[in-house]
Amino acid sequence: MERIERMYIDGQWVLSRAGETRNVINPADGSVIATVAEGTAEDVQLAVAAAKRAFYEDGWMVAPPVERARLMFALADALEQQTDEFAKLETLNNGKALREAQFDVSDAVACFRYYAGLATKPHGQTYDVADPMQTLVVREPIGVCGQIIPWNYPLLMAAWKLGPALAAGNTVIFKSSELTPLTAIKLFQLIEGVGYPKGVVNLVLGAGNTVGQEIAENYDIDKVAFTGGTNTGRSIMKAATGNIKNISLELGGKSPNIIFADADLEAAVDWTLFAIFINQGEVCSAGSRLLLEESIHDQFLERLVERTKKIKIGPGLEEGVEMGPLISETHMNRVLEYIELGKREGAKLLCGGHRILEGNLEKGYFVEPTIFANTSPDMRIVQEEIFGPVLVVQKFKDEKEAIALANNTIYGLAAGVFTQDGAKGLRVIKKLRAGITWINAYNPTYNEAPWGGYKQSGIGRELGTFGFEEYTEVKQININLEPGPISWFENR
Ligand code: NDP
Repeated sequence: MERIERMYIDGQWVLSRAGETRNVINPADGSVIATVAEGTAEDVQLAVAAAKRAFYEDGWMVAPPVERARLMFALADALEQQTDEFAKLETLNNGKALREAQFDVSDAVACFRYYAGLATKPHGQTYDVADPMQTLVVREPIGVCGQIIPWNYPLLMAAWKLGPALAAGNTVIFKSSELTPLTAIKLFQLIEGVGYPKGVVNLVLGAGNTVGQEIAENYDIDKVAFTGGTNTGRSIMKAATGNIKNISLELGGKSPNIIFADADLEAAVDWTLFAIFINQGEVCSAGSRLLLEESIHDQFLERLVERTKKIKIGPGLEEGVEMGPLISETHMNRVLEYIELGKREGAKLLCGGHRILEGNLEKGYFVEPTIFANTSPDMRIVQEEIFGPVLVVQKFKDEKEAIALANNTIYGLAAGVFTQDGAKGLRVIKKLRAGITWINAYNPTYNEAPWGGYKQSGIGRELGTFGFEEYTEVKQININLEPGPISWFENR
């Protein structure tokens, strides 16, 4: 009988109540690598009941911060000890190059350690209000949190979500993407192993429109945190209105990477490759629009195209591979449709533009790194998130035009500026409507600093103390230091 990977609900490894299963695919060759339980709304409801009980009755809401810290440090240690196993599994399921998966695991370990440390740091405030009252302000966990993550960074996004939620004392219903559940299942084995009390952390597997929808709607879930596409974020917002859930959304982007003529151009070419082609371009913050100052436009693109053509593409587990396959056949077709659209819209294809069908790659979902120039701001390939290895180039005359072009999308997640003029770099960044920005760099991310977007790129921030606070409520406590009647009404 085939082995079915299970969900983790109320401290038990369980099959779906409906008895359904789903095959998980290796995007490098289309083969089935696992069969997992496919949950439904009913499984979410069971997990919610367990999480509610763990929070209120079993006392997780008042568990000592030092205990929450101890468990999370232990989880980080356990994960670190299995770095290689997790990295290989992530590459097998997601497709990304193994060296990227290795970074993801160590980033996830660091994220858990950061939040384990933060668990013991919250402190309140006191206010000297009108005598004889004294006001205290304290932070408390929100309660039962639903968390929905995408397929592009399955393990790292789990750390970004679980780290702050559990450190702050919440209980969790966690859903990974149906396409990439394998490292989450393995992580929950560690969660069980280090001794999190039952019901505190629950893993429900299944599709977005069933399990995800129920998480967004369920009346007993107090907060929903989501990372994924903007349209899905919109539908989660609507579904969450029933009980006025606290929401945080980390959504899409079409982020500008602006290169001024006075930049170190060789370094800027190098960072540009990293900005758009890391993780096959399946990155929310990807620098997917390259804005080039007119005078360096042609020379910069010549060098960029030359280096792009040399990127080594193949199955992520193969030695030396720098870029793997896209996540699924459906997503690959979506990216290829955008490439065809770019041609129809009249953009000039400088390199790439096709699925790779050579050698052992024909069964996988490999797409060439692709660059379009001669674009205009109203083209759909310039405005819409493609979420693949597709870069669109825009030309600008001066600082003012660069800023106007950069801000001209519905998104506001990230932005980069390359210049050797320090004042200009900061001046431009201050005018960009984006939540995550870099000067003379693109994409490095730090657990200490807030991550999230302006405009339709989301609501709220992850990481850092900001990310922790997103999982807390603020309570004011007013104490009468001279207890006695207020005597507002005279009619005793
Ligand atoms: P989605 O945003 O739809 O998927 C992200 C997560 O949301 C998955 O766990 C998914 O579940 C879940 N989900 C889907 N529908 C619902 C729903 N109605 N209610 C609750 N949860 C739901 O991404 P897609 O895979 O469909 O990709 C579409 C586009 O979204 C991409 O091409 C890209 O542009 C963008 N995207 C952006 C990401 C980012 O980090 N900014 C990440 C992923 C995608 P499941 O997969 O199990 O069905």
